[in-house]
Amino acid sequence: MNEFEIKGWCPGALRPMMSGDGLVVRVRPRAGRLSMAQALGIAQAARDYGSGSIDLSSRANLQLRGVDPDRHADLLLVLDRLGLLDADPVAEARRNIVVTPFWSEPGLEPWIAAALETALASYALPLPGKFGFAVDCGSERVLHSVPADIRIERSADGKLIVRPDGSAYGLHIEPSEAATAAMALAHWFIQSGGVKHGRGRMAAHIASGVALPASLCGSALPVEAAPVAFPGLVRGGALAGLAFGSMHAGTLDQIARHGQELRLTPWRMIFLPSVSTMPVLQDVIVDGRDPLLRVQACTGSPSCPQGRAETRRLARKLARHLPDAASLHVSGCPKGCACARPATVTLVATPDGFDYIRNGTAADKAMLTGISAADLEKHSAYYLAGHA
Ligand code: SF4
Repeated sequence: MNEFEIKGWCPGALRPMMSGDGLVVRVRPRAGRLSMAQALGIAQAARDYGSGSIDLSSRANLQLRGVDPDRHADLLLVLDRLGLLDADPVAEARRNIVVTPFWSEPGLEPWIAAALETALASYALPLPGKFGFAVDCGSERVLHSVPADIRIERSADGKLIVRPDGSAYGLHIEPSEAATAAMALAHWFIQSGGVKHGRGRMAAHIASGVALPASLCGSALPVEAAPVAFPGLVRGGALAGLAFGSMHAGTLDQIARHGQELRLTPWRMIFLPSVSTMPVLQDVIVDGRDPLLRVQACTGSPSCPQGRAETRRLARKLARHLPDAASLHVSGCPKGCACARPATVTLVATPDGFDYIRNGTAADKAMLTGISAADLEKHSAYYLAGHA
């Protein structure tokens, strides 16, 4: 049987995680925003203290990889000077807030995110490690596919609502009430046994049949969800795509110089507000038809100690042969970190070669086993077209 380790917590800057290539140090920019100076500072720090490799996480955070444990303290001083550090690891872990990148100045969303941060710090609720909040107050919901337990969004009539994930309806609130209402929901989650019965997630807790109290129960349907965003010029700015959500420090440096502000997204893209030209850089995806957008690949070996094979180089090679509308997931082990959803083709590295799974996830039963990377490359059209 394939085995892998489930850690159950996310790294931070103050509480980094050891990986195969050194420490993973996760920086959580407030409201997902970075000034040009902060982005340039992170890029320099990634080169000075790490391997220079930076990941954009599915919660819109940046992870510096390959950080030398002996230099972690020096890196923290740099991050503190950039205004990117929390008071302590507990406060850092609690600040689990994803914000839509598509807001206009002065911006209700960063204001609500800041109020949520303050409330999270002062309420000090014992929330599970992955419990999170989505602030998604535009005229369409853009964070609907992003995991979150409590959502602040709009109803069809344009008013603000707070909605527990898994519930069809939200409660109307005023902007000044958003943080308090979200905390009331979080408090109810803990009091009603959500950590145990919902396995730490709001949607599972709601699905278990537990009833919300009348004071938290709304009747407002959320506004329609927006279509999936792709790299390119969009209303209000430019979306720069990153294959596998990964980039080199030099790429971040150049993206930063292309705009005054960067907004991190949970979709492997960086939004550059008020920019009217795409940054033309080697690693940046600028075309929504690029097949790499349909390919997921985790860190893999050697950077991840659980990885059984290199993943991203293989994924890039196979992407060239991926049929239209097909998706590919290359996973370094059955944990499947890069993609929880089924893909047309999933390749899972094992000690004996790759497992081949069709229309499934990395945890599903393989149709074929023990395929070498060389064979996959040589017969990529065959494997990816689904004749296997
Ligand atoms: S799926 Fe990839 S990144 Fe996740 S544990 Fe396995 S090898 Fe590591």
